[in-house]
Amino acid sequence: MTLENKAVISTAVVVDVDASETGNSSRMDSIARRLRDAVESAFSRDASVDPTECLAWDWLNDSDTNFGRCADCNRLVSNYEQPHQIRTLIDARIVDGTLLCDECAYSRREGASADA
Ligand SMILES: [Zn+2]
Repeated sequence: MTLENKAVISTAVVVDVDASETGNSSRMDSIARRLRDAVESAFSRDASVDPTECLAWDWLNDSDTNFGRCADCNRLVSNYEQPHQIRTLIDARIVDGTLLCDECAYSRREGASADA
């Protein structure tokens, strides 16, 4: 694979889903289209930024989906060290048996070293 002098920057939104929605509902399609349009609009005057127009869907109600909530800040997170990670959720890891996002794990480490 030839290397390119580019970076891919991604973000995402988390959407509450009704049990009856399967991803091809008009509401879900509308939300996805609005997200893609917002990205295109935000960078329409910057030739150095090229929106991919890719929309990725990760269903949090799949049993093998790798996600949880940070024990300290309660944000949705994904453990990047485990399979099926969701790279647009905050990276998290198990610290002393507790799932923590990177920021909260760092805060706990800094707090612990300040106490020492
Ligand atoms: Zn956190």
